Amino acid sequence: RNTGIGSWLDRRLERSGSKTAVIDGENTLTYVQLRDQAARIASALDAAGVRQGDRVALLGENSAEFVTALFGTEMLGAVFVPLNTRLAPAEIAFQLEDSEAKVLIHDVALTQLAAAAVANLGTDLPRWTTQPNQDGTPSLGELTAEVQPWAEDREIGLDDLAVILYTSGTTGQPKGACLTHGNFTWNAYNVLVDFDVASTDVSLQISPMFHVASLGMGVLPVLLKGATLVVESKFIPGRALELIEQHGITWLAGVPTTYQMLTEDPAWETTDISTVTKMTCGGSAVPMRVIEAYEERGLHFTNCYGMTETSPGVTTLPADRSREKAGSSGISQFWTDFRIVDPMGETAPSGEPGEILVAGPNVIKEYWKRPDAVTSWEDGWFRTGDMGYTDDDGFLYISDRIKDMIISGGENVYPAEVEAAILRMPSIQSVAVVGVPHQKWGEVPHAVVVLRDGAQPITDQDLQDHLADKLARYKVPKTLTIVEELPRTASGKIRKNLLRERFS
Ligand code: ATP
Ligand code: MG
Repeated sequence: RNTGIGSWLDRRLERSGSKTAVIDGENTLTYVQLRDQAARIASALDAAGVRQGDRVALLGENSAEFVTALFGTEMLGAVFVPLNTRLAPAEIAFQLEDSEAKVLIHDVALTQLAAAAVANLGTDLPRWTTQPNQDGTPSLGELTAEVQPWAEDREIGLDDLAVILYTSGTTGQPKGACLTHGNFTWNAYNVLVDFDVASTDVSLQISPMFHVASLGMGVLPVLLKGATLVVESKFIPGRALELIEQHGITWLAGVPTTYQMLTEDPAWETTDISTVTKMTCGGSAVPMRVIEAYEERGLHFTNCYGMTETSPGVTTLPADRSREKAGSSGISQFWTDFRIVDPMGETAPSGEPGEILVAGPNVIKEYWKRPDAVTSWEDGWFRTGDMGYTDDDGFLYISDRIKDMIISGGENVYPAEVEAAILRMPSIQSVAVVGVPHQKWGEVPHAVVVLRDGAQPITDQDLQDHLADKLARYKVPKTLTIVEELPRTASGKIRKNLLRERFS
């Protein structure tokens, strides 16, 4: 029996085969067509020697082929490895080598990057392209034209590995999270229950599908429910607004930055967005002014907290509580639980910050080839490495990552709080606060800032004056450095470990 993700499309056929599954520009696929394309890719992979459990890597922007390659891989019982297109060749090579991928499927536009990554490997990894190409590399179109759709009934269960997805690498080397069919299935159920997903929903993905946020919270739940997925290879705000009107989008899925970019587009005011009933958002807190811009149009965010290791949903803030509980990441998803513990592992009372632990059927059991990372689990609870606290109603507030916390004179300083206060200075474009050694206090906060274009440089004193009435003295950075740019991961997160090394 096949109870894996790949079986979803077969199960969909009798229910809504003629319904539109995916829209990618001019390319529209019904569920029957999506199933047929995916099954042909499964056969092409099988013909190329890919066996059950083998890894298939994909380097691509959002496209219909991304979806067909994902499902083709899953039908075969092989393991899908989505790669971030903003990684450098050596970083891609690491993930290809570590996962021992048997084939790399990539966009034609990313040929140079894919070829450079493969050249880094030292072995010859076959490359296939998602679209027709000029250089003789096999394309999915050619490969699938030559084969019959996959029809073998394989034993694929919920505990089998479905996807290896590497964490963002914000705190160190990215780790391969071993996501099973069951992890994604239960996460999708969480989404269907908590977001009131309907088969009539039309969802526009405004963030990349190689991130777990879009893959787990958008793509998979939409297709499990038999709704419609609209994809675009690159996020262009004006184009996204056009698509909202054109397709009557009901569900937008993205990250705070993409939502902000929509409001800054000239077409924002004139676009009819009245069809949108759901806006899901994760990865970091949504800035107040973005929340307000949408509220003026009658729309409310559902903010989500999660991570690669939890497929990725942990908590969501229901849209109808977004104003009352501004700044909160909400309550746990339906089948998933979290708790806050002190350093002794005891449950912390509400209001007290501690480490966030998570348990649920969407939580991974292991990392790929990293038995040393077992410290991540304690009595079946996954240690997130994030600090947070709950209010009296049990709503979660994320403080910061434990690794980024600064202990100054025995007091805990959460850089995220200090950064939010600093960002209220108009001259500052972005900021990172890190701890630097100090003789008397052990550690003190140090601010690393990027100025807005044309802004006057600021001094330590300017910063301290700005923060004087906003933060306790021990939280205020004693010193600052102005830089051109902050070191970031491929997913845009600031690499504080590098800053700490540089400034200590
Ligand atoms: P690595 O684990 O390799 O260091 P990473 O933790 O950045 O990288 P991801 O799994 O992409 O990799 O990110 C998950 C992390 O993002 C969470 O552990 C948390 O720190 C942060 N995060 C996610 N959602 C939110 C949110 N809504 N608010 C604040 N922080 C969030
Ligand atoms: Mg992490």
